[in-house]
Amino acid sequence: MLTDKQFKNNKAMITKNMRKALNEQINAELWSAYLYLSMSMDAEAKALRGIANWFFVQWMEEQDHARIFQNYLNEQGEKVELKAIDRVPLEWKDALEMFRDTLSHEKDVTAMIHNLMKMAMKEDDFETMSRLLWFVDEQVEEERSAEDLVKLLEAAGDDFSIINEIDGRLAGRKYNKASPLKQ
Ligand code: MG
Repeated sequence: MLTDKQFKNNKAMITKNMRKALNEQINAELWSAYLYLSMSMDAEAKALRGIANWFFVQWMEEQDHARIFQNYLNEQGEKVELKAIDRVPLEWKDALEMFRDTLSHEKDVTAMIHNLMKMAMKEDDFETMSRLLWFVDEQVEEERSAEDLVKLLEAAGDDFSIINEIDGRLAGRKYNKASPLKQ
């Protein structure tokens, strides 16, 4: 019979470093959520209701991302340690500036996910690598959708009727629970 300690030592576990990095990623996902909520509120204030909806869906998706990492740490028998969420900007010049900031932020997030993957690879941490794959794919999508909107809004320039059309299109975006949370 193994003692509790031996049993624990026998089990595949994540390292202290990985636990710390995943906790930081939870904070980063929650900061992203807060950033997009702020953009949504600013878009509301600018009467861009469709864009406000797009960012509101984004805020919910980012909370899902945090939840996926929380679930993973829990499954690994680790406690999630919540940190303070830093302030976010409150105002943007226009919709184009919002989406440019979104694209640049998502590129930063992609780099964070890739760094987590590099760490997991270095540690032969196959479980974490497997969980991170969904995020690697997700980031391709996140960057692409922000990039499309930057291009569309750049082409629209100051043409309010085109901006209005884009806004109308974004009103149709619906929240879908992230697939790792559906099981
Ligand atoms: Mg995210």
